[in-house]
Amino acid sequence: MLTATGAALALPFLGRGLAFAQEPAPTAFLPTVHTRALGGMTVTTIADGHFDFAQDLIVNLDNAAYQSALRAAYLDPAQPIRVPVSVHLIRQGDQLTLVDAGGGSAFGPTTGHLAASLEAIGVAPDQIGRVVMTHLHPDHAGGLIGDAGAVFANASLHVHQDELAFWTDEEAAAAAPADFQPFFALAQGVRDAYGDRVQTFADDADLGGGVSVMALPGHTPGHSGLRLSDGDAQMVILGDAAALAALQFRHPDAGIAFDIDGAQAATTRRNLLQMVTADRIAVAGTHLPFPGIGHVESRGDAFAWVPEDWFATRA
Ligand SMILES: [Zn+2]
Repeated sequence: MLTATGAALALPFLGRGLAFAQEPAPTAFLPTVHTRALGGMTVTTIADGHFDFAQDLIVNLDNAAYQSALRAAYLDPAQPIRVPVSVHLIRQGDQLTLVDAGGGSAFGPTTGHLAASLEAIGVAPDQIGRVVMTHLHPDHAGGLIGDAGAVFANASLHVHQDELAFWTDEEAAAAAPADFQPFFALAQGVRDAYGDRVQTFADDADLGGGVSVMALPGHTPGHSGLRLSDGDAQMVILGDAAALAALQFRHPDAGIAFDIDGAQAATTRRNLLQMVTADRIAVAGTHLPFPGIGHVESRGDAFAWVPEDWFATRA
């Protein structure tokens, strides 16, 4: 059995633009959580940490547009964009569904705080009944496994069939650039650790309990969002379909170097943002400014991010 550990998965591409904080890691991480009601369920956003995203990882956006977009967001264009990594916990009665699992030890020193935050809100990992993955990138899947194997001992693990197939294809892994080898190794480690608890889903599958998935391909082959609904209350979890608030609403065609199919990712993003704008659906995103819940408005040929008043809506 392939055992994936943090040491084995330390990602080698950090020098290429994805950087962690230069200052020493803080000695104590304060659990950062936000809970919002959604009909009869609650959605708790849990901060797993953050990473810094440098300009050279942005594709399909020229320098002038990049600079002006960051200045419009009152960010320093000379500095990398610091983005949170959030995990969502859906509570329906005593049923707990986790959406993604953060970076664990696979994604550097500034992520992996999910476990401490769950403990702070009184949730033990073995109480999680299912984990639904938006995709298998290490900032989402690293927290699924630890030194002792599967972190969520009683959970079924739900992932799009194309996503699991892509990242566990041994020929594709062997042919991939060295920078991407750890991505494949992590997915294989996750598959082996969860064994027969892995359940693949197809496009737009209904997972039950008011949770269905939405095919949002491009960022990765099986990248998926989630639609949560309880009566009239609805929310869409975007995953990484819109990841950078300062850039990807104003410039929906701007992509990320890790997008497996950048053109498809841009089409997916435009269609998704148009849908949630037209339907006025609240959205949540892994990397949007914490707690990353809000609405999307149209701005001509592009969009704007409208954060929700988290204090007013917290449960
Ligand atoms: Zn991500």
